[in-house]
Amino acid sequence: MEPQPCPFEKIHPSELHRDADYFMTHAYNEAIEAWKKDEVPIGAVIEHEGRIIATAHNQSRSSNDPTAHAEILAISQAAHALGDWRLNECALYVTKEPCPMCSGALVIARIGKVFFGLPDEKMGCLGGAVNLGALPRSNHHFESIGGILEDLNHEILRAFFQKKRTLNAAKKTASNDPGSFPVDFESP
Ligand SMILES: [Zn+2]
Repeated sequence: MEPQPCPFEKIHPSELHRDADYFMTHAYNEAIEAWKKDEVPIGAVIEHEGRIIATAHNQSRSSNDPTAHAEILAISQAAHALGDWRLNECALYVTKEPCPMCSGALVIARIGKVFFGLPDEKMGCLGGAVNLGALPRSNHHFESIGGILEDLNHEILRAFFQKKRTLNAAKKTASNDPGSFPVDFESP
């Protein structure tokens, strides 16, 4: 099936104010890249000393790899860029609250701080379902702040899954095929 055209457009933030919204806008633009490849639209960037050193989007379907989430790919890129697996001096920005796997990887990578867009009380593990950044006996704790550009980040996910449901329903009606896209995966 051809990827559906993405109805969302990238945003070009002012370079003058490199605040949380600025970095999250770049993560959002990565989510648009994911949509264009028919991937669940989630994007992430990692900031170090005011500079973006990693940008990634979800690639689970195209690489046929359940671990190819935006955060995991960004963590690897950042560690490679710094020549150090410890990301204490870095902040990760991701459009949706990280899942158990990604939240765990952020603990292991010793991330400095995390900003996320849409909270996820079902699968989010930085305060939604649980908080892996604050395990009582862990030797690495970090702060995470949710709700950054939340409406924008919610809207793109909502629209993507809505479109998938509509397409799957049409397909089912046409051929009695139950449809192949797992619409319940991380569906907000
Ligand atoms: Zn994840």
